[in-house]
Amino acid sequence: MPTDGYRKPLPVPSPETRRFWEGCRKHELWLPYCRACGQFYFYPRDFCPRCFGWDIEWRQASGRGKIYTFAIQYRAWHPGWAEETPYITALVELEEGPRLFTNIVGIEADPRKVRCDMPVEVAWDDVSAEISLPKFRPVG
Ligand SMILES: [Zn+2]
Repeated sequence: MPTDGYRKPLPVPSPETRRFWEGCRKHELWLPYCRACGQFYFYPRDFCPRCFGWDIEWRQASGRGKIYTFAIQYRAWHPGWAEETPYITALVELEEGPRLFTNIVGIEADPRKVRCDMPVEVAWDDVSAEISLPKFRPVG
């Protein structure tokens, strides 16, 4: 579904992820939470990957976390990224516990500047009328 000249693949919300993407569109980060074992998890699915319980609800997350690990991409693996190299891909560990694959923005893609455990907060990238991507930027 190409929209507004956006040249990268767009996420396609599924029944399991629709609530997540609805939150993103409002610039709110929502995560599935298991009431049986009292923990958040990600990615979204209908049952808890830890205890296999089905007593699930959605809770809003703080949007804060830290870089768990990252990589600097010097090569565009898809034409949509051709003009953006180098850029940073990362696994961010949220305050609530789950880890989320994302991009780090607002900092130079330089391995001497980005570091693991760096505190980050969500930074929304509105890529279409329906989709906002949760990216992260350094705090402070
Ligand atoms: Zn559970």
